[in-house]
Amino acid sequence: MQENSFDTIVIGAGAAGLMAAWELAQTGRKTAVIEAKDHVGGRAHTITDKNFELPVELGAEFVHGDLELTKLLLKKAGVEQYTVKGDIWQNEGDELDKQSDFIEDYSALNKKFKEIKEDITVAEFIEKHLQGKEFEEARFTLKNYVEGYYAADTHKVSTLALKEELNSSSDKQYRVEGGYAKLVEYLHRQCKERGVQFFLSNPVKEIKWKEDAVEVIAEQNSFISSKILVTVSVGVLQSEAIRFSPAIPEKMDTAKKLGFGPVIKTVLQFDEAFWKKKEFTQQKNLDKLSFIFSKTVIPTWWTCYPKNAAILTGWSGGPHAEEIKDLSNEEILQKALESLSEIFNVSVNLLQLKLKGWHIANWVTDPFSCGGYSCEVVNGKELKEVVRQPIDNTIFFAGEGLYDGPEIGTVEAALYSGRETAHRIIASS
Ligand SMILES: Cc1cc2nc3c(=O)[nH]c(=O)nc-3n(C[C@H](O)[C@H](O)[C@H](O)COP(=O)(O)OP(=O)(O)OC[C@H]3O[C@@H](n4cnc5c(N)ncnc54)[C@H](O)[C@@H]3O)c2cc1C
Repeated sequence: MQENSFDTIVIGAGAAGLMAAWELAQTGRKTAVIEAKDHVGGRAHTITDKNFELPVELGAEFVHGDLELTKLLLKKAGVEQYTVKGDIWQNEGDELDKQSDFIEDYSALNKKFKEIKEDITVAEFIEKHLQGKEFEEARFTLKNYVEGYYAADTHKVSTLALKEELNSSSDKQYRVEGGYAKLVEYLHRQCKERGVQFFLSNPVKEIKWKEDAVEVIAEQNSFISSKILVTVSVGVLQSEAIRFSPAIPEKMDTAKKLGFGPVIKTVLQFDEAFWKKKEFTQQKNLDKLSFIFSKTVIPTWWTCYPKNAAILTGWSGGPHAEEIKDLSNEEILQKALESLSEIFNVSVNLLQLKLKGWHIANWVTDPFSCGGYSCEVVNGKELKEVVRQPIDNTIFFAGEGLYDGPEIGTVEAALYSGRETAHRIIASS
């Protein structure tokens, strides 16, 4: 076999690509991973910064429940998770109020969910089923949840998928000790030990293919293989940055209908946890602050609680990210400080003095992500199935956005999809 000739080429070294490459290499297949960026991990990207008290998660941060594959891999890697605890607060105007959960009074909302027989968007659901004063709170928290947590537009998201996710999701949330980088490093190590070859800083431009014969043209060089697995995000697929020859219009047109939400993350290190000082919180005790929701430009914030660190993370998802996506990082920082100034009783000038470090992760303008993560649109399951179907047992697709299960938009979804598709490739050879 020639130097740049492989049994299988995986495009993308995110969680899905790494998991798939590991599975493929375990069966003795000569496997390559071609990655556009200079590092592996994709949207699971932890960095260390000497100005920050803790590793900074620019992408994935939470483990949303006791997730089978994530838990298993962390255990194998000898990496601990710790439980996310603390209080949830809501800010409106000058008011700071404690919330009992991410979605208040879920049982009343669930009763309303049961009224729907056919799938509709969340915006239609709010319009048709949540009218009247008694649902004011439910309307606010549901919209916040979809735009924030789901990073999605209520006009696109499927109510039935949201209901399924809310009913199956665990109350438990964890963080990975040392950050998701620990999981990524473990997968990367496992791949390399099994002979997977990595080609970083090498964006793929074109895939020329016929049955069992693929030529991959990347920025630095070309490769050949009999099978190819594409794990780039749905956003990248939709951007058509990778050309297929011959073209695959059915896949591309269907991929364009999938939901993929914009996300911008703002991580700020301060000299002290000023939100624990009652002069900034209308005399309320925010010592255990975990999440705070507001109506400011950057509406959602969280601390590192239960870890003791003066770090705040701002979250802009869905329409909130659209609003600021074209601003420079400095301008987004300014919006972040203005938002915090509105939420807490503290001036922008003082916040500027207290700021010791900052990172803006604008995943929307990142050409190798083109957004944050997927959300399920109406009829999303059928659309994903169309994209997932291999072409002539030669071109395969995987990744978080094509996963069919309840853990939508997560690292678990990516790992699961990568593993499942690798098994499909193995079975087809
Ligand atoms: C801000 C943010 C917060 C998140 N928070 C959480 C969370 O708390 N918990 C959770 O479970 N999940 C979270 N997620 C989602 C999670 O990060 C993703 O679901 C998961 O990491 C996706 O993995 P993937 O392998 O499918 O895709 P990716 O990680 O996107 O991997 C695809 C890879 O393909 C590469 N690529 C793109 N184009 C090309 C090209 N032309 N040539 C070669 N390579 C290319 C990319 O650089 C990337 O490395 C978050 C995501 C974001 C953005």
